[in-house]
Amino acid sequence: MNLTAQLKLEPTARQALALRATLVASNAACDYISGVAWESKSFRRFDLHRRCYREARKRFGLSAQAAVRCISKVADSYKLDRKAKRSFRPMGSAAYDQRILSYNLEASTVSIRALEGRLRISFVCGEHQRKMLVSRKGETDLAFVRGKWYALASCSMPNPKTTEPCGFLGVDLGVAQIAADSDGKLYSGSGIKSVRHRQRRLRAKLQSKQSRSAKRRLQKLSGKERRFAKHVNHVISKQIVAAAERTGRGIAVEELTGIRDRIRATRRQRGVLHSWAFAQLRAFLEYKAKLAGVRLIAVDPRNSSRECSVCGHAEKRNRPNQSTFRCAACGFAAHADTNAACVIAGRAAVSGPNVASCAAV
Ligand SMILES: [Zn+2]
Repeated sequence: MNLTAQLKLEPTARQALALRATLVASNAACDYISGVAWESKSFRRFDLHRRCYREARKRFGLSAQAAVRCISKVADSYKLDRKAKRSFRPMGSAAYDQRILSYNLEASTVSIRALEGRLRISFVCGEHQRKMLVSRKGETDLAFVRGKWYALASCSMPNPKTTEPCGFLGVDLGVAQIAADSDGKLYSGSGIKSVRHRQRRLRAKLQSKQSRSAKRRLQKLSGKERRFAKHVNHVISKQIVAAAERTGRGIAVEELTGIRDRIRATRRQRGVLHSWAFAQLRAFLEYKAKLAGVRLIAVDPRNSSRECSVCGHAEKRNRPNQSTFRCAACGFAAHADTNAACVIAGRAAVSGPNVASCAAV
């Protein structure tokens, strides 16, 4: 599986200036090449190389390899369509291959070919990222994000062997709760909500002022919210995968269509968590499970919120309100999300592989 290792670079002030100049030159070169492509209506890599290579090197002081990268980047950008001229932000990230960017893991440095020559820059990262770096392959993106420099290295991790699960931990991705598992644990979204609430009020205030600085602050705010929700999703998915791993179980979730339908159904609460946050949590669960060798299966979502996890009776009356489940047939009562998670776990056990031979967990 392919993952990205994120390393924070710690350039000296002088190195930071050199990095900036390099990124700006590379993006200016991309803009120039894009202009030539657009004017001459030649978008293929080969044609662009013939038309732009020399001039791009001369005009922007690029190394041979950097010029080749810029030409590829522009050619790729026109692959989707050729309806609009592409332009490149001055500080947009740039891809480097091994010839112009290499790592020294012992010294924790990265060597980058900048305009003015090689730069040897220290980086910091966690143990996990360091392990990933061993299996890096090919490209690294140099990125400048919110005033800091990062190297984003693509790494090809060996797929861990998935262990045969003994039963499944059912997970219900909800609205009132971010997630609930079939062990009865609720992963609350209250943290996100309170931040959102506070920020929504601030946003309303900013929106009434249409000045440029207010607009900028608005943009920044949504980024902050996104990053916070992402953090929460990382934490929750990690906890769920750890719980399954610890007990030798697989993870059962609903098929994605179920989640989309659910979001549609609760329009009233849509402002609480956007659909991308669900999709993100789901994607995090998937890759973290894969990384840990935990099997994840998706089950049919139909009626999972109305069905009784004990007797299987399903009807609307079983859900007197958003958070309560009370079976009209057998009287079983639980938090609605917990019951749904148990139904999902039960469906996985029926359709899952080799579960019959395991002892019940
Ligand atoms: Zn029942």
